[in-house]
Amino acid sequence: MSKLLIVESPAKAKTISKYLNGEYDVIASVGHIRDLPKSNKKAIDIEGGFIPHYEVSKGKEKIVEEIKHKADKADEVLLATDPDREGEAIAWHIAEAAHLRKPKRVVFYEITKEAVEDAVKHPRGIDDDLKQAQEARRVLDRLVGYDLSGLIWKKVRYGLSAGRVQSPALRIIMEREREIRAFKSHPFWIISADVETLKKVSFTVVCEEEPTDKKIVDKIVATAEKAGHEKKWFVKDVKETDVKKSPRPPYITSTLQQSASSRLGFAPSRTMSIAQKLYEAGHITYMRTDSTNLSQFAISQIAKVVEKKFGKDYVETRAFESKSKNAQEAHEAIRPTHFDLESAGGNDEQKKLYQLIWRRAVASQMKDALTLRTKVTANIKDSSEIPDFSITGSQIKFPGWLLGDPASRGDDVELPKVNVGDSLELRETKVEEKQTEPPGRYSEAGLIKELEKRGIGRPSTYASIIKTLEDRGYVEKVNKALVPTDTGDVVSSFLEDNFPTYISDGFTAEMEDKLDLIADGKQEYAKTLKDFYKPFLKDVKSKDKMDKVTNLGDAPKEFKCPVCGSDMIIKLSRTGKFLSCSRYPDCEGSLTMDGKEIKKDEPIGTDPQSGLPIFIKIGRFGPYVQVGEKVKGKGSRSAPKPRMASIPKTKDPSTVTLKDALTYLTLPRALGPHPETGEMITANVGRFGPYVVHQKDFRSLKNDDVYTIELPRALEIFKEEKKKRGFAARKKKS
Ligand SMILES: [Zn+2]
Repeated sequence: MSKLLIVESPAKAKTISKYLNGEYDVIASVGHIRDLPKSNKKAIDIEGGFIPHYEVSKGKEKIVEEIKHKADKADEVLLATDPDREGEAIAWHIAEAAHLRKPKRVVFYEITKEAVEDAVKHPRGIDDDLKQAQEARRVLDRLVGYDLSGLIWKKVRYGLSAGRVQSPALRIIMEREREIRAFKSHPFWIISADVETLKKVSFTVVCEEEPTDKKIVDKIVATAEKAGHEKKWFVKDVKETDVKKSPRPPYITSTLQQSASSRLGFAPSRTMSIAQKLYEAGHITYMRTDSTNLSQFAISQIAKVVEKKFGKDYVETRAFESKSKNAQEAHEAIRPTHFDLESAGGNDEQKKLYQLIWRRAVASQMKDALTLRTKVTANIKDSSEIPDFSITGSQIKFPGWLLGDPASRGDDVELPKVNVGDSLELRETKVEEKQTEPPGRYSEAGLIKELEKRGIGRPSTYASIIKTLEDRGYVEKVNKALVPTDTGDVVSSFLEDNFPTYISDGFTAEMEDKLDLIADGKQEYAKTLKDFYKPFLKDVKSKDKMDKVTNLGDAPKEFKCPVCGSDMIIKLSRTGKFLSCSRYPDCEGSLTMDGKEIKKDEPIGTDPQSGLPIFIKIGRFGPYVQVGEKVKGKGSRSAPKPRMASIPKTKDPSTVTLKDALTYLTLPRALGPHPETGEMITANVGRFGPYVVHQKDFRSLKNDDVYTIELPRALEIFKEEKKKRGFAARKKKS
């Protein structure tokens, strides 16, 4: 009897077949095999009940044929794609595309021998509710994206887009940005005093008030120093308190992404792809979950590890209350499958992430930490002229779970032993001027926390929300902060003005809840989509007549049109905001935001080869140089396109000289034929930066200059092993 088991990833297939002793032929679909046709609304039959029409993804025809062929001969076909809605949908697509008869579905929340053996003994059918919940998300996102983007193209700028869940996230970032812009900072002062005990132990106490008036500061300092000369400083109070700190629950998707971002500096999408690999290799439980639950088996395993490693006194098993939104699917928290493995993973980043997961899960079953917090207060004897000065220290009395998760343990701050009433010698006072600061921008970790708090997104979506905002150029990561770009600002403002409901927290969270209900079989697919889509489409259509948003407000008065001297207004181009003459189109004068003149359509020189003028232009993919003008009107279709070349991102377009332009125009450069194949090797710049190519083998240029690189160096680059892009990183595209 032959049995076929289908998963989505080759790595997972490898791990599983190891456990099934050759009983099953395990093959991988390598991700999705079908999808909606690209940017085509007709792919969804709205009238017929929002029925999506899928097509087999390009390059997947072969694997579908292979599955069909093998399934025909098999007595049993098991679909073992990932245990969530997306996995359920992939299983369904495989069954549909390969015309499987009575396929069975199994799920592995962890890929261990026991779990796999147990799961194949308990197969079920494909869960239509789960699959429909995934389909509803996909269809909804496609329709909203299509209609909203279409409107934004017309009303703001061609090529922009907006999505259902990214837009609320962008709004949250923009709201913070406006708070920052509106913030008015003011000074305040921190006053501190270095004091010394009779035993010559010195420490620093800080004034508990932070005055905002320099006069008050001077008065406090003068009084403090006078009292110092008179030897009147003393220990007014010593207060000790015990503080208990409990361990945090084991990781769920959102908290893992947050810790990996703040502690390891991993972007959420990177964290997910690393976690996927750890899961597929059998090291951790499934990484998309919002349940903090641990199985009884896991808890007893952790207890054993804690006892062995730290001693019996450190064990305290606990259950964490789960606020899981997908109660039906979420199984357990993210935890190691084998707790005796303190280190696991195939490379450094996997090991680092595994260690986070191991420590957090283990610490969750340990005793509270006990800290002694000490506060020493100092002031002037028999006086109430100045505020108290104080210092706080803390010392761990019992580390408890902090031993299991040492990164959570702060530094001890030890204070000198002093008693109430002790005299203190004042050595010096210090005054430091500070400025109040605006609220901080969101980090990736902070944004995920915020989204989760507001009920926007699910374990499967946080990473892709942030990635999409960055990919579209709406948000840039600067250090750790997510900073909205001009384009992000304009798109968000447009949506906030015109579709406040659809991008509100409440509406988005409610929609997520509805998708959960579909997954639970408690809400109907077609009705949910219809209830959403009919009023939405009406709303979008009602904006069809509105004016194009071109004016982003008046420019600061000091900027005047370089051509006619009129006032200017702020507008948006591909590369960001710029200032345009208020008399446009009668006057085409324009400036950069910091007031440099943008010389439009005035050639920077003449091409010595053709004698044609060379222009600087701004296009879809940024600034570029162009030789000659495009032929407009009659005959333009057959006319040859002018030669163009990108201006490197690092170059300010307003500083491009004729010599620079001629250098840029040398691309694409033919470097010479490859000695083995005789095929030409070419250097050029593409969407993802400079590269060399030989027979469709593209290699990014990191340290080499695309304008000067020669054939021998290019050959060296082709000899290097090509960097593989992770399968798992590209697989999920919910
Ligand atoms: Zn003008």
